[in-house]
Amino acid sequence: MSIELSPEVGSKGRLGTNTVIVRRSSKQSALVQRVVRWESRVERYRLQATARQILPKERIRACLVAASPVASPHLKYSPARKAAHLAGLMVCASPWSCPVCGARISERRRGEVAQAIAWAKGAGLQVVLSTFTLRHGSNHSLAVSLAALNGAYRRMHRRRDFVALRGSYGLVHGIRGLEATHSLDHSWHPHFHVLQFVSPGLDVTAYAAALSAAWLPSLAAEGFSATARRGVDVKATWGHVEQYVTKLGRTWGAADELTKANSKRGRKDSFTAMDLLRSVAETGDQAHASLFREFALTMKRKHQLQWTRGLKSLVGIEDRSDEDLAANWLDDDQLAYVFANFSSSDWAAIRYCGPEAKADLEAAGDRHDRVAVVRLVAEYRARYFADGWGFGPASSV
Ligand SMILES: [Zn+2]
Repeated sequence: MSIELSPEVGSKGRLGTNTVIVRRSSKQSALVQRVVRWESRVERYRLQATARQILPKERIRACLVAASPVASPHLKYSPARKAAHLAGLMVCASPWSCPVCGARISERRRGEVAQAIAWAKGAGLQVVLSTFTLRHGSNHSLAVSLAALNGAYRRMHRRRDFVALRGSYGLVHGIRGLEATHSLDHSWHPHFHVLQFVSPGLDVTAYAAALSAAWLPSLAAEGFSATARRGVDVKATWGHVEQYVTKLGRTWGAADELTKANSKRGRKDSFTAMDLLRSVAETGDQAHASLFREFALTMKRKHQLQWTRGLKSLVGIEDRSDEDLAANWLDDDQLAYVFANFSSSDWAAIRYCGPEAKADLEAAGDRHDRVAVVRLVAEYRARYFADGWGFGPASSV
């Protein structure tokens, strides 16, 4: 269902392996996948509720809660993806702070990046993953570190040595991904992962040295530094590129067993936004709540992925906004249609019954089980009524 890399590039690595697993799946593993998918959905809706409490003044307060001004709440079904999602609702479209919008957006963005990599390979280019970091202190807010990172990156592009490097290595296009984690040493760690498309036959050591030579003085001009080893890290193997692209689609935990197991296992030395939200949801940790708030407010409106000018049209990708992707997640399937409509009182009851209700309805939609949707809505209405809330017009499912 997710967009895979081309068979040629995905056949040997992790993505290819996933495809094989899906092909081999028996009825039992299909059931396991369905359960894991349901759990992931519930978790994302629960974490979204936690994020809503931490960010009461942000758009997430109405995300997948309030009806859209232009449509009524409904379930949309995509025959191509055999998947359903709630639509006709307001969305916050934040890839940074909303687990539900973030998952929808990152899955599509991952597909776009995979297409760009396939295009680069077709054009005979080599793909490398260069990571740009800075040395940060616990006294630096995320806003300060991030401004330095951005400033240094802009400065680097204006430097003569970097312009010369671009010419000699054939570096014309790339995709820059922004990430920020919070380390156990109490400091924010914003960094760029940049997929760079360069001429084939790259001397990785020389290339990394040339990038560092342009990056370190750019950081210094912003009043920051990095060790020569850690300032720029270049990975040129397909495995590293593939691992990065896979992770892109799982920013908010994809519905698969491996991600779920990994994300919950072991002691962490750094926290992603999702880790912080989980911690708040599970333990009520207020320090993590304020870190999440700082993250959400600082990253707001920042681009998660930035493509070099002209690259999307070269690859043949329509430029869709985060808002569009979050609201119309399944619309890349031309045959997607409204599977069930909900009246305003249905929706009030569904909202009242919480994250599980939304996940149950979407799971019933995935199965194309109309009877289950009708039964679930009747149950939610009954519970809403039994708890003494108003009863509106009859269900229109
Ligand atoms: Zn949202």
